[in-house]
Amino acid sequence: MRSRAAIGIVACEILGFQRSYIVHLSCRILLLVFLLTGLTACERGPKDHQQTLLVFGTLLDIKAYTDKPGEFETAVGDLEQTFQKMHREWHAWKGEGELVRLNRAIAQGDAMRVSPELADLLRQARDHAQLSDHLFNPAIGRLVALWGFHSDEPPGGPPPDANKIAALIEQAPAMSQLVFEDGQIQSSNRTVALDLGAFAKGYALNRAIRRLRAFGIDNAIVNAGGDLCVSGRHGERPWAIGIRHPQGEGVIASVDVADGECVLTSGNYERYRKHEGIRYAHIIDPRSGYPVKHVTSTTVISRDGGLADAAATALSVAGPQQWHKIAAQMGLVDVMLVDENGTVHVSPQMRQRIEFQQSIDRVLVSAPLQPQP
Ligand code: ADP
Ligand code: MG
Repeated sequence: MRSRAAIGIVACEILGFQRSYIVHLSCRILLLVFLLTGLTACERGPKDHQQTLLVFGTLLDIKAYTDKPGEFETAVGDLEQTFQKMHREWHAWKGEGELVRLNRAIAQGDAMRVSPELADLLRQARDHAQLSDHLFNPAIGRLVALWGFHSDEPPGGPPPDANKIAALIEQAPAMSQLVFEDGQIQSSNRTVALDLGAFAKGYALNRAIRRLRAFGIDNAIVNAGGDLCVSGRHGERPWAIGIRHPQGEGVIASVDVADGECVLTSGNYERYRKHEGIRYAHIIDPRSGYPVKHVTSTTVISRDGGLADAAATALSVAGPQQWHKIAAQMGLVDVMLVDENGTVHVSPQMRQRIEFQQSIDRVLVSAPLQPQP
């Protein structure tokens, strides 16, 4: 069945309708996209076009400001194919994709020939892991599975046996144990189980923007459940987006996103295991084997979507005390964390960009983060 739902914003819509339509959509995709410029009459020239795909287990919302509706349509068809393929090949535990086969080979102590693209993806993931002091650690698939997150349904019941968690921590799976040689990958540690859940989406969003550009679509937002990359502008203005409040309703802050930038958020609030009133987040601290507690969401803006995704997860693990050090190591400048008390921790660069949309009790602005040369 075709999952593509054509819901283009028609050129002659009045501004009010456009706004209410977008607000409605944001409830589903967890992020408001403010269109700050509106079309008030039928005009020639670029217009808003929008399509939503169901891919990567989430809604992928593709919005473009363009005068090439035909090219947009073709590009969206291409993206649908590309995303389905990435989902199939990079899934950590379902089906017979490349990553599932690689995980099996690793568990058996074998080497496996992999596609150049998967090798590139894993090299990047390894580098991000290194820079994050392994707080982003996509080799901990066994821990993620133990906590019940290798399942389409939200897990329930008590936390896993502490001895099993301790045993996996003892085995210390890490990306640095992967060996890349002659197009093959193997691991010196058989307990490495690759799970790209914290990284592949950001990488894919970056690629989607490049793909759209190849079809001549230069002004676009590609948004997967609130994580997004943009190209160009929305007419006279930059694209403006809202970051959802992790603990409440609505938008915590809005921000203008420049050509080529990505905004990635990792949070405790969306996927978790609940038992006796306690929530166990799907982000695991690789040092302890237990879900992170102190952070409710982390937002990172970067031109590298994969880096931003990996970093949002790593900084959620790092928490209010250590995020600044890890962000500096990862070469980030625009970072915002919201902790469980609602306190916002933010780099001065990010503070300057965002506009809070709600009153915030406490905002802690850190020392500046130095941009990479
Ligand atoms: P979201 O999927 O909400 O964007 P993340 O980007 O943080 O959130 O990805 C969380 C997923 O990444 C988990 O479901 C799990 O598959 C995996 N994961 C959990 N903890 C870690 C970690 N410390 N490092 C790398 N991957 C992780
Ligand atoms: Mg992530």
